[in-house]
Amino acid sequence: MGNQKSINHPPQTRKDLRTKSMSKLVILGAGESGVGAAILAVKEGYQVFVSDAGLILEKYKSILAEKEIEYEEGKHSEERILEADEVMKSPGIPEKSSLVIKIRSSGIPVISEIELAYRHKGGSRIVGITGSNGKTTTTSMTYHICKHGGLDCAMVGNIGISFAKQVAEDPKQWYIAEISSFQLDDIKEFRPDIAILTNITEDHLDRYEYKFENYIRSKFSIIKNQTKTDYFIFCADDPTIKQHIKKFSFQSNPLPYTMQKEPNPGGFIRNGQMSLQAGNETLKMSIYDFALKGIHNQYNTLAAGLAAVTIGIRKDKIREAVQSFESLEHRMEYVSTVRGVEFINDSKATNVNSTWYALESMQKPVVLILGGIDKGNDYSLIRDLVKEKVKAIVCMGLDNRKIHDAFQNDVPVIVNTGSAIEAVKSSFQLAVKGDIVLLSPACASFDLFKNYEDRGNQFKEAVRDL
Ligand code: ADP
Repeated sequence: MGNQKSINHPPQTRKDLRTKSMSKLVILGAGESGVGAAILAVKEGYQVFVSDAGLILEKYKSILAEKEIEYEEGKHSEERILEADEVMKSPGIPEKSSLVIKIRSSGIPVISEIELAYRHKGGSRIVGITGSNGKTTTTSMTYHICKHGGLDCAMVGNIGISFAKQVAEDPKQWYIAEISSFQLDDIKEFRPDIAILTNITEDHLDRYEYKFENYIRSKFSIIKNQTKTDYFIFCADDPTIKQHIKKFSFQSNPLPYTMQKEPNPGGFIRNGQMSLQAGNETLKMSIYDFALKGIHNQYNTLAAGLAAVTIGIRKDKIREAVQSFESLEHRMEYVSTVRGVEFINDSKATNVNSTWYALESMQKPVVLILGGIDKGNDYSLIRDLVKEKVKAIVCMGLDNRKIHDAFQNDVPVIVNTGSAIEAVKSSFQLAVKGDIVLLSPACASFDLFKNYEDRGNQFKEAVRDL
């Protein structure tokens, strides 16, 4: 298949694997990645103990019981945890938790689930996708293209499917992995054959001591172990990537994508035409044939398309897959039109940058539902678009002061609501025929909802009840 050979790597030897056998591995957190890691670790001969300070979901408890993996819930038995040879920390557990601080100061190595999966993946290869926005879309699209092109592959990682579990139970030749910065924070040798960095904007700063540099470093660590045979696909139009890329040395082959230049190799869009060049392959395609709309999705298609060309997927298969890829739930998802008012669910927009792209694609007056848990937002980034397109803001959150402060001089109407039902009712009252009600909150959802899916679902239900 095309230039697939150029990114071949020797499989890990059995000796590499054996050195880890019977070492004591403590896994903190028993969610998807913790339980997935436990399954793989037991299979590979580690002595595993899983510890979760909260209650473990039934579905995960039954897996642990069935595999006879020792676990505890509702507490962390420190003494036992500190006897570990190695600790795998689930991405949700913050660095500042007192247990993590103790583990670090005792010198016990801490790894993430993707590190464990990498260690035992054998000769399989990885496309690793990270960035502040567009990870899930780019990962799903890359997977869709690869699958359509006949590649033996699985989609894993942050997208909700444990990478480690996939390696343990259903190994594939390729893993298309969505990777969060929290997973990257504790990698040691993890090395994707193809890395994709979609963009870097301020997000999750609460987990990085409110230092943007720390978060940038975390994102760039996706390339730190790459070698000359690997590829680094990145958005060259992203100001933060552009500004910082020179600081991070990497050995892999850069494949930039942009709408401002015509890199070769790399990808670009000019006059409605996408052009992808990698190795000896060139693929051209009209952007009007893309199934996904919006500039951000053109960027995501450039990234996914470059990965597919690099892997060696047939060009006609790439074109077909880009044409047939459907939009994902909670991402600019059309809900319905009620008495001429269109409702759009972009609940996944949990930071200001996502909301910028959502607003940018709006062609009609907008009633914008904003708010939730602010992770250090700088609302000035969307100020111009809000002034131009937004006629009213409906705040949906427990603490909306920052939104009022940011927009009180720009938007004539700003109201507070405390639930999806209230927010939808208020928005509907404020909108007239021909307007759009856009849920693109720029914030996390945990104050009023379980997660962004719950927020999006409650929004859609409230719209259907109008
Ligand atoms: P992630 O998995 O990184 O959170 P998603 O693919 O789920 O990203 O998209 C989340 C939101 O981010 C979307 O609703 C969209 O508004 C915005 N978005 C998607 N792709 C991009 C991109 N390339 N650049 C900026 N924003 C994007």
